Amino acid sequence: MNNKTILTAMAAAFLGWTGVAATPVMAQSTYDAQFLTYPTYSGDDLELVVDNSGTHFKLWSPKATQARVNLYDNGHTGSAWTTLNMTYDEATGTWSAMFPEKLYGKFYTFQIYQNGKWLNETPGVWAKAVGVNGKRAAIIDFDITDPAGWEKDKGPKVDNFSDVIIYEMHHRDMSMHPSSGIANKGKFLALTEPGTKSPEGLATGIDHLKELGITHVHILPSYDYNSVDEANLQQNTYNWGYDPQNYNAPEGSYSTNPSDPATRVREMKEMIKALHDAGIGVIMDVVYNHTAENDGSNFELTAPGYYHRHWDDGRYSDASGCGNETASDLKQMSDYIINSTKYWADEYHIDGFRFDLMAIHDTETMDKVAAELKKINPSIFVYGEGWTAGDSPLPVERRALKENVSRMTDIAVFSDDIRDAVKGHYTDASDRGFASGKPGLEETVKIGIVAATKHPQVDYSKGNNSKFAYADSPEMIVNYISCHDDLCLTDKLRKSLPDTPDSIRKEVAKLAQTIIFTSQGTPFMFAGEEIFRDKQGVHNSYKSPDSINAIDWSNKALNIDLFNYYKGLTALRKAHPAFRMTSADMIAKHLVFDKIDSAKQPNLISYSLKNNANGDSWKEIKVIFNGTDHAQTLNVAKGNWKIVAIDGKISPEGDLGATRGGRMTIAPYSALILAMD
Ligand code: CA
Repeated sequence: MNNKTILTAMAAAFLGWTGVAATPVMAQSTYDAQFLTYPTYSGDDLELVVDNSGTHFKLWSPKATQARVNLYDNGHTGSAWTTLNMTYDEATGTWSAMFPEKLYGKFYTFQIYQNGKWLNETPGVWAKAVGVNGKRAAIIDFDITDPAGWEKDKGPKVDNFSDVIIYEMHHRDMSMHPSSGIANKGKFLALTEPGTKSPEGLATGIDHLKELGITHVHILPSYDYNSVDEANLQQNTYNWGYDPQNYNAPEGSYSTNPSDPATRVREMKEMIKALHDAGIGVIMDVVYNHTAENDGSNFELTAPGYYHRHWDDGRYSDASGCGNETASDLKQMSDYIINSTKYWADEYHIDGFRFDLMAIHDTETMDKVAAELKKINPSIFVYGEGWTAGDSPLPVERRALKENVSRMTDIAVFSDDIRDAVKGHYTDASDRGFASGKPGLEETVKIGIVAATKHPQVDYSKGNNSKFAYADSPEMIVNYISCHDDLCLTDKLRKSLPDTPDSIRKEVAKLAQTIIFTSQGTPFMFAGEEIFRDKQGVHNSYKSPDSINAIDWSNKALNIDLFNYYKGLTALRKAHPAFRMTSADMIAKHLVFDKIDSAKQPNLISYSLKNNANGDSWKEIKVIFNGTDHAQTLNVAKGNWKIVAIDGKISPEGDLGATRGGRMTIAPYSALILAMD
């Protein structure tokens, strides 16, 4: 989802206060006030339960005057073999019907009668398995979808969220290119294949992820989305998937057989198990903030009006920029988000959730999401985009904005501060950043280095995107320079350094990513950047073909030096807790910036991690960044330093040589990292 920081800046202006206000239950518009009177129901038996007494249907639809279930043999063709009339329960707002047999293998839709007409059929909002293209819900036995050993499957234990290293990937990006050597191209199963290699004999797929050393993959939307025709997969349509249709079933086009509802469930679990067996966690990108369709969405067809927000005149509000936004401030929608994430954590063993346009949701809902998920698995990491893509009736102080992150618990936000400061602003392709030679961004980079926490040496008034220390803890911050949105790093460097050869741009890329991986908070990288992947300059490739989006794995051999550098970054970070401090106090105490006059020496930042920070084996670590195209010199305190990174090379063990400190030279576009026992 494209990010918009304008509204967070606007929000910051409103947020002159830091206290926590009690939030009254209120509607966000006079139109939405009508929904406050609806009875709500959040039991886990909504829509479908199969037990020994039969198949039970229960639909939440408080204003319907009739409701029915249509039963089918097929997931997308043929007519209903029977229709069950449902009976209403006023207390819960639900309609129920049952069939006295286990209807495994059958399909169903709901239909409600409201405002004088029967609405279109819908699989409901809780379909956990669906037919082709998600128009009918499927009744399957989930026990048969578990891979061997599933009962013992679990993701990596996470003690602190700053220990996580996130790799954001799209299933097709990873495997579609012929050079991937992967058989199940574009499928969940792609990451279950060990031993896959590029034409040059280098590891691809899951072996590549293990080699790189990331801790978690963050998969782009993998619930059932709208835009790819699952009945016509030979068209090879590509989409990011930010157009949700069925939130609780996997996307069919990533399965080997979308017409068999159990296949996509089983294959997604097989992917998760393979990653877990490799010690890698799986984070899902979730898009509860809007639906692909307005009136035709499953939300509207089950409880018209309720789940979306509106302005006073009844128009859909549109903070997503996609035609509508959902109403997490209303109880049934809030519970829906909470229960849906719980379902993915329980049934699929998902290790984290990345909330698209999280600020469309209210802070209370996000708090509940994190608290409930923690009960299932304390290692689950929840983070999101702390902004919206348009105005919303939800008041700024209630939005799960970046600026409000400290008022939430166990929620993290992306740092657009470090992103835009290191590589240049996302709205202007030619804009350079700290790492590519633009002066004046030092203080904003420092905001990123301290994970937006309060630090005596960081002047937030000079910050570009944020003017105050919005994070109470580094565990609230995800640092990144690029993701699926906007120009990827390679393309950004090609556009912003047009007269510079790729050989130099790769050095800039190393520096930029070194800043991310050594900063406090959680580092996040975009798939393929470790091998200098590009998207041919396409900044919004959400429906571009595979020829733009798929990673060409031959790049790995061509850029093996860059790849090895990334490997060094993950290894360094994992070996040294000083880069993964767990509190703002610890950072303020152990991270000390060296005084540099930016007017005389622009694009130079130097700091130390002192006194065995966070229990590190190294007594002191010196980190220096030079973002100019020329060498700069700096005095480093005398001592027995070992060299960890220099001249575009990195050694997590610090065996690139030794120095006694003193006047040291930092090569153009590079990081110098020293360590002392
Ligand atoms: Ca779909």
